[in-house]
Order: sequence, then C-alpha cells, then structure tokens
Amino acid sequence: MVMVVRIQEPNAWRDGVSIVSPLTGCLLKAMNSTRLYEHIERISNLVRTSVRKAGLIHGLQPVQTEALHYLSRCNHYSNTPVAVADYLGLTKGTVSQTLGVLVQDGFVKKTIDLKDRRVVHLQVTPRGEKVLNDLVPPQILTSGLENLPAAMNDQVGSLLELLLLALQQANGLKSFGTCKTCCHHRVQENGLRMCGLTQEMLAEADGEKICREHDSTAVAA
Ligand code: SF4
Repeated sequence: MVMVVRIQEPNAWRDGVSIVSPLTGCLLKAMNSTRLYEHIERISNLVRTSVRKAGLIHGLQPVQTEALHYLSRCNHYSNTPVAVADYLGLTKGTVSQTLGVLVQDGFVKKTIDLKDRRVVHLQVTPRGEKVLNDLVPPQILTSGLENLPAAMNDQVGSLLELLLLALQQANGLKSFGTCKTCCHHRVQENGLRMCGLTQEMLAEADGEKICREHDSTAVAA
C-alpha cells in the first residue's frame, strides 16, 4: 500500500490565496533548477553525440565543429583566437590546437590584421562552410523539432533565449549577442550602420553576426 503524506506549511494558504514561504520558494527553485539541468544535460548529450558522429565523417572533433560554427557566425571584431577561447570557455592552448587543425585541413584561413600585425583573424573557407551545412543544425535536433507543433517550436526557442540571457546576466558573462541588438548599434538616416563603440561603419550583414563586445545593458551614449 502506498501512503501519501501531505506536508503543508502553516502559512501556505491564507484567505484562499497561496502564500509561498521563502523556504518553499527556495526549494521549488532548487527542484526546478535540478529538473532543468537534467533536461539540458540530456539534450546536450544527445546533440553532442550526433554532432560527434557526423563530424567524424569529415575528420572533425566536436570542439572543432563548435569553433568552426562560432567563426561562421561572428563579426570581424570577434574572429580572433582569444575570442574563440572566450566563447567556448577553453584555454588558449586548447583553442590554439583546435584552430591549428582547422587551418591545416583547409576549413579556416588566417589573415593578419591590417592595423595591428600582432592580431590574427580567422575566416571560414568555402570548404568549411560546406561541412558546416552538413553538420549544423544536427539532424537529431531537426527531427525532434519537427515532432512539435510549429507554434511550440517558436516558444521553445524564445524560452531558451530568455534562459540563456538570464544565465549570462546573473553570472556576469559576455552575451555574444547579435550586433543589431547591441546598445552600440546605430542605423543612420541614410540606412548605413555604425558601431558606436568603435565608431566604424558596419556592413548590412554585420547586423546578424555575433560580437564579443555585444552589450544590451549599457545605456546608449
Ligand atoms: S554595435 Fe555592439 S555588437 Fe555591433 S560591432 Fe559594435 S560593439 Fe559589437
């Protein structure tokens, strides 16, 4: 026989209104975080396994695929080895090895910065782009999302975006957001774009790229 025991805190209900005590609130948050962690961990694991298998066909390890994908999405302020290390949360040594393989295999090409010859920029080659098209998004994710109603698909995306933002803000992490959502992004009367931080002009396509200097919180000057 299963016995169900209900534990009700003395101040849980008052005048028909639920009053969640601070202790209950903390416990609920902890339970939600644990549940969320378990879901995210499982999803990450399944996605990573799928990316690993597909990447191996092209001789790529998951970290190399991640670096390649980042470089395909970032702007020209963010395509340096230091920025790749920042984004992936890896050491400079690990990133250096990862990028070395990508360059050697022709997925990425190096160029020297015109203003500062100590700075190296990394660009995805047509070969790298072709491989990325095969790997991202991974098939396991696409087929899973196809099983959800279209409206829910959008909801999942928006909620995950909110969670990512909250997590980055709560922990003081760089947002690496898209340029057009940055407080420094300016669209002039003639339609041309400019970065208020560097005072340099931006191309139309830059608006959709991610940037290591992205800031959605500071008050625009
Ligand atoms: S506007 Fe913001 S995101 Fe865009 S290039 Fe400038 S700092 Fe980066």
